[in-house]
Amino acid sequence: MVTERVAPVDFTDWITLMGRTDRHCLDADVDFYPGQGSDAKAARQMCAGCPARLLCLEWAIHHELYGIWGGTSARQRCAIRRHRGINVRQPGAAWRDNL
Ligand code: SF4
Repeated sequence: MVTERVAPVDFTDWITLMGRTDRHCLDADVDFYPGQGSDAKAARQMCAGCPARLLCLEWAIHHELYGIWGGTSARQRCAIRRHRGINVRQPGAAWRDNL
């Protein structure tokens, strides 16, 4: 049974993540939102050694429905959510909750 639970990763974690100057995607010329069928290899490689990866991934599991985050695709995060019983209702919901 899948039950919805309140995301333990909140808006302050996003602020922390975006403020990390050591994250590899900062000012990178790499497409983290490749279209269907496009190659996400460059983005995945950039994430692989990123020191912010764990925080990024946890944020994305709870809030991001699209793109490469923490080295994972949208589909992979969907599988993680199913396994952990997390229901992300719609993109942007977390943002509106914090405004
Ligand atoms: S894990 Fe990837 S998407 Fe996340 S901060 Fe690092 S480089 Fe950026």
